[in-house]
Amino acid sequence: MLWSMGATNERGKSVVSEEFASVSIDQLRGKRVVVMGLGSFGGGVGVVRFLAGHGAATRISDTRTREQLAASVALLDDIDNIDWRLGEQDASHFEDADLVVINPAVRPDHPLLRQLIDRGVPLTTEMNLFWQLNRGRVVAVTGSNGKSTTTALIHALLEAGCRRCWLGGNIGGSLLPIVDQIEPSDDVVLELSSFQLERLNGLRARPDIAVVTNFAPNHLDWHGTLEAYAAAKQSILRWQTAADWAVLNANDEMVSAWPGEAGRVAFGAGGGNVNTGEVKSQPGNASWLNGNTIRCHIDGHNACVSLTGFRLRGRHNQENALAAVAAATIAGVDSASIERGLSQFEPLPHRLQLIGEFNGRFFYNDSIATTPESAIAALNAFDEPIVLLAGGYDKQVDLSRFAAAIGARVKAAALLGTTGPRLAERLGRCPSPPTYRVAASFRDAVCWAIDRSTPGDVVLLSPGCASYDWFQSFEDRGRQFIAIVRELANTLAVPADD
Ligand code: ADP
Repeated sequence: MLWSMGATNERGKSVVSEEFASVSIDQLRGKRVVVMGLGSFGGGVGVVRFLAGHGAATRISDTRTREQLAASVALLDDIDNIDWRLGEQDASHFEDADLVVINPAVRPDHPLLRQLIDRGVPLTTEMNLFWQLNRGRVVAVTGSNGKSTTTALIHALLEAGCRRCWLGGNIGGSLLPIVDQIEPSDDVVLELSSFQLERLNGLRARPDIAVVTNFAPNHLDWHGTLEAYAAAKQSILRWQTAADWAVLNANDEMVSAWPGEAGRVAFGAGGGNVNTGEVKSQPGNASWLNGNTIRCHIDGHNACVSLTGFRLRGRHNQENALAAVAAATIAGVDSASIERGLSQFEPLPHRLQLIGEFNGRFFYNDSIATTPESAIAALNAFDEPIVLLAGGYDKQVDLSRFAAAIGARVKAAALLGTTGPRLAERLGRCPSPPTYRVAASFRDAVCWAIDRSTPGDVVLLSPGCASYDWFQSFEDRGRQFIAIVRELANTLAVPADD
């Protein structure tokens, strides 16, 4: 048996599933391990490489075809003896399994997963295997928006402080195959999704520093209820002790009230005074904005860091920086190194990424904005007039606040995908709606948006919706946007005063 049952937990028993417990990694040789879902983000490939290195007999079961998974399949070219079961998935793939490694995207109510749990088949995930083996100190980041940016920022600040550090988790790729190279004195910065956190409960996973950016309804189709989603996210704090740290958004009433035993650092104004760092019901350890300077006070350690060289736009990115500076300060990075790290940090692709200036218009790709909150944050990041491209796959979330923000902030809006007509209908009810058009295709939307723009405008793709109706992924959507903009923007009329 590779599995030992997870201990019961007094603090979260009623809400936390603990099926994903510890696995005997030294007994993997010769065992039949089934990888349920190879995926395209690197985690599945990392698991298979790890299993091959430990002599397991690996089977990959995925509903997607070899063609759909071509990029991941190619990365496993050099590994022999994989038992490939692609294009469909059924119970026979799991009959003789000694262990099943579950992709984070497999829903908890998936019928095959329920069968495996009922049969007592040991289950784990790429992140659980990594957590079991990792010897480094962990900074874990979760939240509904801003996870990747904050995770990458923390990693950059630790690097600027000359720490030996690693970046992984939900941000992509896998640290599992190289976990042996991570020393106890290293720092590991992990972005953790609610799906990953839910399944880490069986290990009582306890990050040394936990960071929560914010909380808003999301993934309700997966978690079932808002309470279940919040419980999954709260796993990041659940097993921490007084020796650990929790860096929590003071502006977010829900997050700042989440229980936990770790020492708390509040970032943001939290209803208190932005300039003094007085934070509602959280006196003491805090990270706050004073003009264009971040000040951070944690157990007698003070940091004072100018944001002058910080290139990420928007209040939301200042919040991400507040969280990152707090985490780096706890980790012992000095203010001068933090300031250097902040000024050298480049926006991640597809996140308010400046594509370029073409004849006086500034084109931004924010394709990763798949929730209304993140697109509203993008709209608030600009003072310039905005020509927006918004809409996409319909996840049945409430679009009223997003439509109101478009009505208030946007000069013209090209509406995309299945939510396009829903947004149009809501915009039609705004007191003074912007010019808008339900686009027939993505190219049509970009052409129309460019036509509506004048010098000094921002042309922004920030859809506020998922991409799956017109595109393969948000990356695909962002790449197509960049390609069409580069092709068309050069044909724009040069501003008269040039
Ligand atoms: P995540 O990993 O949680 O999806 P990202 O850092 O990739 O977050 O950013 C995704 C989107 O969320 C971007 O559109 C960005 O503009 C927006 N965003 C980033 N940080 C925040 C924040 N702190 N609050 C609200 N929205 C944010």
